[in-house]
Amino acid sequence: MVAALLDRLGVDPSLYQQGEHAVHSPIDGGRIGSVRLESRTEVEQKIARAVEAFEAWRKVPAPRRGELVRQYGEALRQHKAELGELVSWEAGKITQEGLGEVQEMIDICDFAVGLSRQLYGLTIASERPGHHMRETWHPLGVVGVISAFNFPVAVWSWNAALALVCGNPVVWKPSEKTPLTALACQALFERVAKGFSDAPAHLSQVVIGAREAGEALVDDPRVALVSATGSTRMGREVGPKVAARFGRSVLELGGNNAMILAPSADLDLAVRAILFSAVGTAGQRCTTLRRLIAHESVKAEIVERLKAAYAKVRIGHPLEGNLVGPLIDQQSFDAMQRALEQARGEGGKVFGGERQLAAQFPDAYYVSPAIVEMPGQSAVVCHETFAPILYVVGYSDFAEAIRLNNAVPQGLSSCLFTTDVREAELFQSAVGSDCGIANVNIGPSGAEIGGAFGGEKETGGGRESGSDAWKAYMRRQTNTVNYSHELPLAQGITFD
Ligand code: NAD
Repeated sequence: MVAALLDRLGVDPSLYQQGEHAVHSPIDGGRIGSVRLESRTEVEQKIARAVEAFEAWRKVPAPRRGELVRQYGEALRQHKAELGELVSWEAGKITQEGLGEVQEMIDICDFAVGLSRQLYGLTIASERPGHHMRETWHPLGVVGVISAFNFPVAVWSWNAALALVCGNPVVWKPSEKTPLTALACQALFERVAKGFSDAPAHLSQVVIGAREAGEALVDDPRVALVSATGSTRMGREVGPKVAARFGRSVLELGGNNAMILAPSADLDLAVRAILFSAVGTAGQRCTTLRRLIAHESVKAEIVERLKAAYAKVRIGHPLEGNLVGPLIDQQSFDAMQRALEQARGEGGKVFGGERQLAAQFPDAYYVSPAIVEMPGQSAVVCHETFAPILYVVGYSDFAEAIRLNNAVPQGLSSCLFTTDVREAELFQSAVGSDCGIANVNIGPSGAEIGGAFGGEKETGGGRESGSDAWKAYMRRQTNTVNYSHELPLAQGITFD
């Protein structure tokens, strides 16, 4: 099945049939490929090739670079079904989410095509007569992308589509848990680039490897920007290393996202939003809803309604019409069980969270999503456990709810359900949510590509995707031109 998909996507079988590193599908634990892990020397060779590609690509006019990305977006449209299904096999996403992830790639390609004609700089008023000041944006250099298992293709495309129109080559190290989808994206890219006369060789490359391969990208001064998506632990290692060599980094790390449920909230809407954002992708989104901060007047009702809704959620094979697929692996299942144990120890009342379908899938880890009523935001609640656990805590006044929203180390996404305009505005004001994303009457997950995506505090501070996130992929230059016959100095200084 997977081999047939890879074949239709144009992946050379030698890349996934001959390695020492086994790739397992979280759907049934079966082996779906074997890849070879690349050495540090091989990564360095790829970086050298990327440097060569940069020499040529930076000279190609930006709208022409956009044309390559447009063609890549077209290839994705043609292969959306196959790539989406491959995402399901490798990451365990349900059909809709696998397809949604590919759609996100198509969307960012469209965005980048438009952007390729809008890499605008400023014209600035000079204080000196006969002078002209402006800002120009130039290609930056090699962009290294390190990605996580849970968005095996979309995160790369957020970076790659922008990097390419900005004039940069890309070297991508996907998660060692999801290398096959990366090989498929790369095969599609190579096919498109081959027919594009201005594309130099090695404009986009994939490095298959684990942490060591990522470290080779991080350590190499020829990699101008490292965009790293993954756990806060990873970011804590990557960030200082890139900074120490004065490289640039975009860090997209763990989240611990909350919903404040106010007394005036539309509860029907809230139940649906909670279900999608807490249970979807089996709780394995960086933006998954992990904390429900419910007003005491609605807390008991929402918990009852959620329990009823959770009991009806279909858990099972993600390609067979279910709503919740598997966890990525046993490690993830064990971490979930440990968190639930800890929550009990901290006074939590646990509903759900048990392993499911073990007889049918002995080597895969399906779970019923858990709801845990907590007496407060204790240690376990402040930690991101990458599994479907929704902690529920109560609040009585709105200032306290905002304080609870902000009282965790992470700062990715947040939301408020209310029909009170004062609360809505306060939540999104300077004294409201401290997260990179603050929504009203929609859940914390499922962002569109048009906005800048990322978060504060231990989420790393990076922004990628839409808005002006492209600026991280270019270097800014301030230009002053003197078209007069004098040489006046700034600040009125005379130097005769
Ligand atoms: P992970 O940190 O285990 O791995 C992520 C990537 O980093 C992998 O490719 C891995 O090989 C690499 N890596 C690990 N240590 C490294 C090091 N020292 N140097 C260089 N590379 C290294 O994360 P994961 O389990 O794959 O993904 C889940 C995590 O990712 C969660 O914490 C989730 O919140 C986060 N995430 C964040 C975002 C976001 O945009 N903020 C998006 C998706 C996932």
